[in-house]
Amino acid sequence: MQNIKYPDCMDQFIAHCKNSGLKITPQRCAVYSELIQSKNHPTADEMYQLVRKKFPNISYDTVNRTLLTFAEIGLVDVIKTKEGPRHFDAILDNHHHFHCVDCGRIIDFYSEEYDNLGIPNQIQDNFTVFTKRVVLNGLCKQCRKKKKSS
Ligand SMILES: [Zn+2]
Ligand SMILES: [Zn+2]
Repeated sequence: MQNIKYPDCMDQFIAHCKNSGLKITPQRCAVYSELIQSKNHPTADEMYQLVRKKFPNISYDTVNRTLLTFAEIGLVDVIKTKEGPRHFDAILDNHHHFHCVDCGRIIDFYSEEYDNLGIPNQIQDNFTVFTKRVVLNGLCKQCRKKKKSS
């Protein structure tokens, strides 16, 4: 491995991979490390651009497949929006999303109130819930300004 500084939570990542029987490769470490450091829910293409700086030979396909594998074992969350490509989010803490329907940006926010929301009965009776996230759809500040001025 090159001189790549990984954040502390890489230990957790490695443990999670081991538990799920996923081999730990420098490429996988790099993909995960880039994802947890980027705060803006990148797409596979944006992730590819970031990882490529450290692994010039990596292909878009490898990055995309790695992200989907992470999603399968519950390491990352896949966010689908109407606007197009999926976004990825490393699930590290309990947070919620504001999604701008105009520019497609997804902004994290925290709310104790939302964290404490109960699970409706009809869900509780029929499904097992692993995670809970509130998604608010609307216009971000910039897009609201644009709409007002046009
Ligand atoms: Zn916007
Ligand atoms: Zn998020």
